[in-house]
Amino acid sequence: MRYTYGPVASRRLGLSLGVDILPHKTCSLDCIYCQLGRTSDLTIERKSFFPREEILAEVVEIAAQNNLDYITFSGSGEPTLNLDIGWLIRQIKEKTDRKMAVLTNSSLLWMLEVREELMATDLVVPSLDAATEGVWRRLNRPHPDLEFDKVIEGLVTFANEYSGNLWVEILLVKGVNDSSEHIKALRRVLSRMRYTKIHLNTVVRPPSEGSAVALSYGELEEITKLLPADTEAVLPFREKVKQISAHGEAERILAAIARRPMTIKQIEQSLGIPQNRSKAALEVLIAEGKAKLSIHEDEAFYEAIQ
Ligand code: SF4
Repeated sequence: MRYTYGPVASRRLGLSLGVDILPHKTCSLDCIYCQLGRTSDLTIERKSFFPREEILAEVVEIAAQNNLDYITFSGSGEPTLNLDIGWLIRQIKEKTDRKMAVLTNSSLLWMLEVREELMATDLVVPSLDAATEGVWRRLNRPHPDLEFDKVIEGLVTFANEYSGNLWVEILLVKGVNDSSEHIKALRRVLSRMRYTKIHLNTVVRPPSEGSAVALSYGELEEITKLLPADTEAVLPFREKVKQISAHGEAERILAAIARRPMTIKQIEQSLGIPQNRSKAALEVLIAEGKAKLSIHEDEAFYEAIQ
């Protein structure tokens, strides 16, 4: 499957089919916590990256075979950079009876056409990590042509125009955007927006930069008390376990590394599991005491604990 991944069982979305409509890794931001690595194509130019009929056909085919709760645009970068997203949302809605969600970094919501294209969805999950320009530049490392005030106004305007579910996603990085001053600034932005939920998250996968350090779940919970009452700290680890179990990837990796120690690259080559997903699965296997990491001639090998 070229444009889809999953379906993934997620606590928040139920059974969700991911749709990835960007070449890796095309984004308007280059967040220090990004689990996809550095942004190789930092752009705000919207383009038609792939034949849209091909994407549509693949999504419709998989939707017909699975009892999906959501079809979710996310993936290798910022989905609203794809010029066809509005057409795809309308067509998929028409051809399947599934709910549609878009995960966005919010940076293009100042464009009227982007706001209009997302109107037909059932759920939008916009990110709001930074409420001050300094934090935004340090954390999200935006494309040079993006303007902070315009981005925030775009998000606020969209939130107030949109009538579907809007779950604001705030990702906190230790020492970067978790100060009480910054949380107050986030509150001020939130007070101007209509939303249905606020999710507080932290770094859960290996980040793009080693400087992006996670908060503990306890710290996240403390910060939820400083935010509006409907804020929920998500449970990253349990979430991860569920997603990985849904793919059955952890079991496949465990069976493979029980036969011989393997590097991440070897796992990708022999099982076809992308490196970021193998890393997440191995993290869970190590935490569960089922696998361990050893270094041999400067290479990291994973092996099963028998
Ligand atoms: S917006 Fe998302 S995809 Fe883009 S750099 Fe940030 S975390 Fe990565």
